[in-house]
Amino acid sequence: MPSPAHHTAGLGELVCSNSLKSKDPSTAPGMLKHELEQLGSLVLACARATSVPAGGALAVDRERFSDLITRRLGALPGLTIVRDEAREVPDGPVIIATGPLTSAAFEPALSRLIGPDRLSFYDAAAPIIEADSVDRSVCFPASRYDKGGADYLNCPMDRAEYETFADALLTAERVTLKDFESPDLFQACQPVEEVIRRGRDAPRFGAMKPVGLTDPRTGRRPWAVVQLRPEDRACKAYNLVGFQTNLTFDAQRAVFRTIPGLGHAEFLRYGVMHRNTFVDAPSLLTADLALRSEPRVRLAGQLAGTEGYLEAVAGGLVAALGAYAALSGGEPFVLPPVTAYGSLLAHATDPGTKGYQPMHVNFGLVPPIDPHVRDKRERHAVMAARGSEALEHLIASRPDLRVDSALATLAEVEL
Ligand SMILES: Cc1cc2nc3c(=O)[nH]c(=O)nc-3n(C[C@H](O)[C@H](O)[C@H](O)COP(=O)(O)OP(=O)(O)OC[C@H]3O[C@@H](n4cnc5c(N)ncnc54)[C@H](O)[C@@H]3O)c2cc1C
Repeated sequence: MPSPAHHTAGLGELVCSNSLKSKDPSTAPGMLKHELEQLGSLVLACARATSVPAGGALAVDRERFSDLITRRLGALPGLTIVRDEAREVPDGPVIIATGPLTSAAFEPALSRLIGPDRLSFYDAAAPIIEADSVDRSVCFPASRYDKGGADYLNCPMDRAEYETFADALLTAERVTLKDFESPDLFQACQPVEEVIRRGRDAPRFGAMKPVGLTDPRTGRRPWAVVQLRPEDRACKAYNLVGFQTNLTFDAQRAVFRTIPGLGHAEFLRYGVMHRNTFVDAPSLLTADLALRSEPRVRLAGQLAGTEGYLEAVAGGLVAALGAYAALSGGEPFVLPPVTAYGSLLAHATDPGTKGYQPMHVNFGLVPPIDPHVRDKRERHAVMAARGSEALEHLIASRPDLRVDSALATLAEVEL
């Protein structure tokens, strides 16, 4: 059943970019690719087989990619593909992966299953940046009026810095809305570029108000402040408070790096505003993607509350291995939290995670290594090696999941 963004009958259709991001194993997307390979991912193998030159990224010829997935799945014995719209949740073990544009006819059944008000229908998220990339000689920790702990990092602006930022924001390139993303979608949560369009000073009386804050460098209240709020307990990632945005990713990099202290900000996730159906994973799901209230049902892909093509691929695989383990009476299949995808699932399904927004895999979520390695690239390489080893160990200890034989089946249908 095609969504408004899907245009072909092929499986695995990429609706937008044809890039599956970096191949470098010491980046988070590269680490995830390696994990998918270890788990025998059919989709990743199809991506490798249909790749096109794209520097350090794995990009695919989207038609050949989708065609190969369709033919390889079609050739699997015992698999029947039914092309129809689901309106009810089937009985028995089931994996639901209806994606960000889950059809309206299915939403009531989904809501009955997970409970009222547990389904979000759009994603309005501010960018998330890596803590290590914030310049602490400029940003200072404090909460407004010193209420609570000094939980926020504050990026102070003087008048001239605010004007530079305002000019950049007012002229930045925005993402064009798709037909199914009506402007009404954004009424409940205005993007920051829209707020400033309505009044050049409007952000200074909203998300960027400086009240209750004193810049320790000047001893005075700044002209404006961008507050950074921790994303995780270990404070390895921060979001830009109130900076929901619909700017293009390039524009976000350019504009938000004009904020004092963020000149070298590394973006773990860019702000997005698009139609996105997803559940409140921390309250609903276990780390093997089963519903806490009804474990026969698993959710996968964007619906389960992750973001991105490869994260969706990993979710499908983890849910499938989890369902297989449950059906064959084995132990639950839970990825080690030191893996890229395991760390994302540990965060997304931790009941202590509040206000969760879908996100990509990122090193901010992977537990730190001890001893600490100062060089970032080297540190990430050590983390990736640790994740790979833990996953290898898990696979070796779970012969019941037959990951190896899945790998062998793959090679049977060729390009
Ligand atoms: C417009 C748009 C652009 C995006 N661009 C990117 C990008 O460039 N890079 C990136 O990494 N991510 C992008 N994403 C996010 C992207 O959707 C996910 O990364 C990924 O495709 C999610 O995979 P999925 O399997 O969860 O959902 P999907 O790939 O959307 O697959 C879900 C499938 O279920 C079908 N379906 C829905 N309801 C029903 C029903 N009731 N019965 C039967 N079938 C149903 C849908 O039609 C669809 O075919 C984009 C999302 C959107 C909406």
